[in-house]
Amino acid sequence: MMGTLNEIEIFDLKKQVAQKAVEKGFDAMQRVDDLMSHYKESSEVSRIKNSVPLETVRVSQDTFNVLKRSEEIAQLSDGAFDVTIGPLVKRWGFYDKEQKPLPTRQEINRMRRGMGYVHLFLRPKNREVSKRIPTLEVDLGGIAKGYAIDLAVKALKQAGVVSATVNSGGNIGFIGNPVKGEAWEVGVIDPLNPSELLGVLNIKEGAVATSGNYENYHEIEGKRYSHIIDPRTGWPVQGVLSVTVIAANAMDADALSTTLFVLGPKQGLVLAEKLNAKALFVLETENGKPELVFSKGLETQFKP
Ligand code: AMP
Ligand code: MG
Repeated sequence: MMGTLNEIEIFDLKKQVAQKAVEKGFDAMQRVDDLMSHYKESSEVSRIKNSVPLETVRVSQDTFNVLKRSEEIAQLSDGAFDVTIGPLVKRWGFYDKEQKPLPTRQEINRMRRGMGYVHLFLRPKNREVSKRIPTLEVDLGGIAKGYAIDLAVKALKQAGVVSATVNSGGNIGFIGNPVKGEAWEVGVIDPLNPSELLGVLNIKEGAVATSGNYENYHEIEGKRYSHIIDPRTGWPVQGVLSVTVIAANAMDADALSTTLFVLGPKQGLVLAEKLNAKALFVLETENGKPELVFSKGLETQFKP
């Protein structure tokens, strides 16, 4: 589901009750995958892709919520986050995990003209979506996992769970406190050596998400190209190794980790602060030792 490992851990309930709650949580995540996966021809996201310009596509409230937040974050980030990036992600070989020859500048520029979140219209009244140009596709790979976690968290809380974690590919939503200690401990992977940790973050509540260049990449002529594309250039982002974001909900943490990866630390930390989130950047350096850059105050939550 969602092309990644999904895990729900419940710490406070008896086994039978917990089992029911876990099922409800996974049902919620499955629902998001069915509605929002661009790999499924029957998803709402595929219906948008297959629509013609100005055709109205009516979507579920869940899909609309995610598209709406995507639009807001696209606006706030000046287009660094853009869910219409799909054709470029595909061209760089990240849909079929197949390495393709490097694109030419003309090819990239042509594709960039065929995308852009401003060409996707959202009308909240009847949850209607329409695209303005034929080539537009929606790729919620940078935000839907987070929304799925939020829905699962809601389902678990409704089932009476008071201490749990919901994990989807390294994005985690927290419920309550851990049984031992006051804060959840989340390892930050060393991007240059992904079987090791750079350290551990202490998190009290909310959610955390990481976008990393080690998660999905191609090596072409000795250079690494990662799956996060800068919509302003059409090229995979260079120089950032990972971004971990702590936010009140998992959708924001997920979307922001992708956004900040594109924006880099200078603009990224400003946006994080504006949205009451905190971020840890792991940056490439000349000497091969990654540099860590924290939001104000976040160092105190980090143990190397
Ligand atoms: P994440 O692992 O959450 O950072 O999401 C990465 C995924 O988001 C990629 O695999 C693409 O599907 C999608 N993506 C890549 N670049 C962007 C971008 N600039 N804006 C929005 N989504 C993106
Ligand atoms: Mg993300």
